[in-house]
Amino acid sequence: MIPISKPLIEEEEINAVVEVLKSGMIAQGPKTAELEAMFAKLCGTKHAIAFSNGTTAIHSGVRALGITDGDEVITVPFTFVATANPVLMERGKVVFVDISEDDFCIDPNKIEEKVTDRTKAIIPVDLFGQVYKYKEVKEIADKHNLKILEDACQAVGATQDGNTAGSFGNVGAFSLYATKNIATGEGGMLTTNDDEIARQAKMFRHHGQDEAVRYEYLALGHNYRLTDLAAALGVEQMKKIDRIINTRVGNASLYTEGLSSIEGIITPKIMENNTHVFHQYTIRVTEQYGKTRDELMTFLKENEIGCGVYYPKPLHLHEHFRKMGYKEGDFPVSEKLSKEVLSLPVNPFVTEENVEFIIEKVKEFSKK
Ligand SMILES: *Cc1c(COP(=O)(O)O)cnc(C)c1O
Repeated sequence: MIPISKPLIEEEEINAVVEVLKSGMIAQGPKTAELEAMFAKLCGTKHAIAFSNGTTAIHSGVRALGITDGDEVITVPFTFVATANPVLMERGKVVFVDISEDDFCIDPNKIEEKVTDRTKAIIPVDLFGQVYKYKEVKEIADKHNLKILEDACQAVGATQDGNTAGSFGNVGAFSLYATKNIATGEGGMLTTNDDEIARQAKMFRHHGQDEAVRYEYLALGHNYRLTDLAAALGVEQMKKIDRIINTRVGNASLYTEGLSSIEGIITPKIMENNTHVFHQYTIRVTEQYGKTRDELMTFLKENEIGCGVYYPKPLHLHEHFRKMGYKEGDFPVSEKLSKEVLSLPVNPFVTEENVEFIIEKVKEFSKK
């Protein structure tokens, strides 16, 4: 099976973890600090703060932005649930806005109609590894005095207008989960240029303590820390970030070359002024293809090709959010795309031959 995702664990990663094991300092320590410095440098942000996972990074960001009882936060339904849940953890209200078909990210034209006097923030998602339409969203945020939390969980190293993901908001959040482009098993990172947000996030990560003064509890806090065992993996992979991105981008452009001529297949679009890091290479299988997305997926799997549907159902159609009053028809673009999307393997272990083989299979199946 050609895997849809596989973490980059080579000699360097293994040795680095062994070094941490031998050091005896296996919780948060110098490796975590090293990884934080690497993220701050890559993202061009003043602060990068490591977390136990992407969800806890987002939660800490939501908390540091001061979201609380009844505050409304605008986000998209076409994402992973961890984009939205942290708002609920702080007793805020999740207000969905549909996505655009071209980049799978928040549609700036649909935001303003959802802004009320309780709206406090927007959480756009850099879905599949491409930064959302920042300029348009920022303009709306500024006009209504809203904060932006960029869910950059899938977009380490992606850029727009020369700036890097994690810097397109008051706070950015990354995931280092096993399937992500930088994968430490579990792990997360929060980025910000704001000293007060950074201070709040660090305290929240560490039981409400200021890092310099232990056993003085200044606020409510969690244990949301990363371990140096995980950070060691991240440090070694971050040294290889260019290779990780370049192989993904190379595989993506081979796919686009081979697939875009197939009737009914829509290949992903790289928006102007963006570089895409292709956490997922996601095609759309439309009616003109002659077979359904699910039929194609079954066929590819029979041919030992790993593929996945991200996401099979938008958040608002799940029981958890239906209870808040959302229903079928509320977000037509998300609903349509959830039936069409199919992600093909682009990870660094996927070879040119693999991509050619997969393209052939997609062609072959359309003719059957
Ligand atoms: C992976 C992911 C998260 C959550 O990250 P975890 O590390 O799994 O907690 C949040 N948002 C998006 C868009 C993600 O892809």
